Amino acid sequence: MNIGLVAHDAKKKLMQNLCIAYQGILSKNELFATGTTGRLVEEASDLTVHKYLSGHLGGTQQLGAQIEHNDIDLVIFLRDPLTAKSHEPDVNSIVRLCDAHNIPLATNLATAELLIKSLDRGDLEWREMYK
Ligand code: PGA
Repeated sequence: MNIGLVAHDAKKKLMQNLCIAYQGILSKNELFATGTTGRLVEEASDLTVHKYLSGHLGGTQQLGAQIEHNDIDLVIFLRDPLTAKSHEPDVNSIVRLCDAHNIPLATNLATAELLIKSLDRGDLEWREMYK
């Protein structure tokens, strides 16, 4: 499965820890992340991540385009709900595109863990039918 990863600055450490904790499951999948998030995940773990541009330089839109092409099966987007982002429209577009294309989306740690565990159980196999 192709997994999209994005973490706002305040949540990047959390994303690193999540990826360390679930490295065994994540390593069996393809990871795609905005630039800084991807680099930090690679630095903290043994995972290999396909890195887009940095989020504010267009990486969020690159992820959005891949979602539109039905090429992402699950998105973990650890948002910082407390700080306004200059590229807020791109940020919102990820949520909108996931809803438009029925892509499982986690925007906080609790849901992210649930989705990763479901992925490991094979609960997302239905995604293969859409490809
Ligand atoms: P980044 O992008 O991983 O390149 O920092 C995420 C974001 O939009 O903040």
